[in-house]
Amino acid sequence: MPDKKPMKGTRFGLLGQIIIAIIIFAALSGLYSLLVGDKAKVTDISLSQTAAMVNAGQVKSIVVSGNVLHITANDGSEDVSKKEDESSITDTLKNYGVTPDMLAKTSITIEDTSGAGFWLLTVLPIALPIIFMLFFLWFIFVQMRGGGGGMKAMSFGQSKARVTDPDDKKKRITFADVAGNEEAKQELAEIVDFLKNPQKYLDIGAKIPKGVLLTGNPGTGKTLLARAVAGEAAVPFFHLSGSEFVEMFVGVGASRVRDLFDQAKKASPAIIFIDEIDAVGRSRGVGVGGGNDEREQTLNQILVEMDGFEPTEKLVVMAATNRADVLDSALLRPGRFDRRVLLNLPDRKDRELILKIHANEKPLEKNVDLSVVASRTPGFSGADLESLMNEAAIFAARHDRKTLTQKDILDAIEKVMIGPERKSHLHTKREREIVAYHEAGHAILATALPHADPVHKVTIVPRGSAGGYTMNIPLEDRKLETKAQFLDDIVVSLGGYAVEKMIFGDVTTGPSNDLQVSTKIARNMVTKWGMSESLGPIAYEGTNRTMFGGEGIGQREYSQDVERKIDEEISSIMKSSLQKAHDTLQTYKDALEAVAKKLLEVETLEQDEYNKLIKPFGLVGKTKDA
Ligand code: ADP
Ligand code: MG
Ligand code: ZN
Repeated sequence: MPDKKPMKGTRFGLLGQIIIAIIIFAALSGLYSLLVGDKAKVTDISLSQTAAMVNAGQVKSIVVSGNVLHITANDGSEDVSKKEDESSITDTLKNYGVTPDMLAKTSITIEDTSGAGFWLLTVLPIALPIIFMLFFLWFIFVQMRGGGGGMKAMSFGQSKARVTDPDDKKKRITFADVAGNEEAKQELAEIVDFLKNPQKYLDIGAKIPKGVLLTGNPGTGKTLLARAVAGEAAVPFFHLSGSEFVEMFVGVGASRVRDLFDQAKKASPAIIFIDEIDAVGRSRGVGVGGGNDEREQTLNQILVEMDGFEPTEKLVVMAATNRADVLDSALLRPGRFDRRVLLNLPDRKDRELILKIHANEKPLEKNVDLSVVASRTPGFSGADLESLMNEAAIFAARHDRKTLTQKDILDAIEKVMIGPERKSHLHTKREREIVAYHEAGHAILATALPHADPVHKVTIVPRGSAGGYTMNIPLEDRKLETKAQFLDDIVVSLGGYAVEKMIFGDVTTGPSNDLQVSTKIARNMVTKWGMSESLGPIAYEGTNRTMFGGEGIGQREYSQDVERKIDEEISSIMKSSLQKAHDTLQTYKDALEAVAKKLLEVETLEQDEYNKLIKPFGLVGKTKDA
């Protein structure tokens, strides 16, 4: 590990420069006002001269501000004089021999020197350039930091962590707010107990893990669960995102880490939560080009801090990432993030629980059945489900309804999955026909093939970028998937393509997405899952870890010869699948026609209607009861 000392000087250096600039500027502007301020076309005269002028009747008016006399003569010329501190203007002039007569003839005005106006006039010429300068500097710094609010510019080195106060009952999140994920909660219950009764563990000589790494797909509730741990334990929660450590000034990240740990130690028992830790925690030394030093320093500092505190300090560091595979191995070794908690995408039962949580403050119509919604949303994450309920509520509110219906929620599934409905997007008559046959093709194959998922809905109403779609999803979540299932999936995907060729003798751009999806399945079968007879049980592609430390440019782990064989194998799977699609559709051509015609008429077929329609043709729709 390269031992780079973070450059602590940076944060003060900048402030120092600002202060020096201000001092120089203040001196300059002071000099300026000295030179310029009194350079008006007025002359300084003595008090006796003034008195003589008054006696001679040459003075029109005298304005007194403080000790300064501004004298305006009858001929318009202006003079300035000064009087003593204590004595009044009339006394002074009398002492210099001005007669009461003449004094009465002269207009004398006393200006209020304690008023804001006076001070403003005196101070402003000096202060204004300084204020302007300060603003200018501030502006430049905000710009350099890529926008954002004002005072941030002055606090580069501070951690910026958001602290959640355990006594804030309203914002407090507990395990009850996290549906499912029972194993994860059990693991974390240990941490909660330690933070609540640390002495119990310390007395018996137990070391509680310092670091807990939450991994899992985006939206599976990692951030939520970390907050819940803090809420359960009722300790302060220091929340910072990995990317917030790194700024454009070198050394800032490391000093932020130091600051964060200092703050947390003062507040202990406490939890530090570094979200999206992959932003700073990627493996070191694989970057291409510069710009990694800062990240590495930050990571080093995290490692140093984690080594530096004792279990007796009652501090637990939690982190979350959805890319555990790219993390630096130093982060994962014992004594650092050695506990790993995996959050899975929710299964059907958990999806229902999550839906229930997010339906909590939304009035539902009595007949709403969230289990149906749950069964239609395999692959949805907690975040997806939350957004689904929200979409449904927005839809209901927009139609001035006070409650959510089942239909609102089911429609929202499609909106989240594919995009908004585009009723106004009109197909031509021929386009409508093609789409109807295309979707009917998918549906018939999904019903006819034994391993395909049942059809829940067929529609030719365009949505998102799709012209229409067939919703076929499994009854139960697939956990272990078989080769037979994948093969049938490919055939179903090719159904649209096959129909277009069969009925219209031509293909459109419509099935492009179908082709992508099915080709990808075929490729994975061959290269990942060993499902190809000719290539055998070899994984040619693991999880890609490329030399660029990211996705995109795949690393080839096989010879050109094998590559050619892979391509041949994929091509053979696709061709035989297309043949199977074609043959099956030929067998059920009458059913295909019937479904397409019905779709042209009613646009959308729900599961029941669809199953009823195909029954006379010897096809049995798959349902839960079947
Ligand atoms: P991650 O950090 O894993 O990307 P989040 O914790 O930010 O995901 O989750 C986003 C939102 O999704 C949460 O605020 C919450 O509303 C919802 N959510 C995710 N998982 C669950 C769950 N298991 N139970 C309830 N809500 C969840
Ligand atoms: Mg998160
Ligand atoms: Zn299609």
